Amino acid sequence: KSQVMITDTFIDNLSREALLKKVFEKVEEHRKSVFIVTANPEIVMTARKSSLYRESLLKADFIIPDGYGIMLASKVLKQPLEEKIVGYELLHTFLKYASKKEKSVYFFGARKGIADLAARNAIELYPNIKIAGIRDGYSGHGDHIAEEIANTNPDFVFIGLGVPLQEQWAAKYKYLFEASVLMGVGGSFDVLSG
Ligand code: UDP
Repeated sequence: KSQVMITDTFIDNLSREALLKKVFEKVEEHRKSVFIVTANPEIVMTARKSSLYRESLLKADFIIPDGYGIMLASKVLKQPLEEKIVGYELLHTFLKYASKKEKSVYFFGARKGIADLAARNAIELYPNIKIAGIRDGYSGHGDHIAEEIANTNPDFVFIGLGVPLQEQWAAKYKYLFEASVLMGVGGSFDVLSG
């Protein structure tokens, strides 16, 4: 596949439409998990500094350019990326899709009560989403909890633990998820809860 390397991170060069087509195909096939990284400058800088984080990114199926900074860097490198794909917008696109197709979503992360509020607002916006589960990001994220989340068989797992934890978590536990889309969403639950 076509990629552009920004410092130590390979960013996938594909349009938003092409990404969605590939992800939705995988969801419909229900055969494999998909780990998506929405790369912003913070992620690229963290990958530069941390080998553990770099290794986690190697497990990603898609690393997409989340925002203007990455687009600009690709231009400076004379390998312009096709299209910016904003993580927060992608979250909404997935929620909308989940509502339309009656897919289930798991909200994992943020302070106590925040993901609950975010889920409530998500249901208001996208009434037919199925909530597989909700869990805050400060009462553990180890093996036991990962298994508990995986056992709910979510179609989408949105991980709001921040960088670097959310990608490290997704990379470490991806194997537990038979057919889920895993994506780090940073502080999105805080935004969606308001
Ligand atoms: N967070 C968490 N557990 C932790 C550390 C952070 O759930 O151990 C949450 C935090 O409450 C916030 C999100 O992770 O909702 C990180 O948000 P931030 O704005 O720092 O991330 P960004 O959007 O900048 O990636």
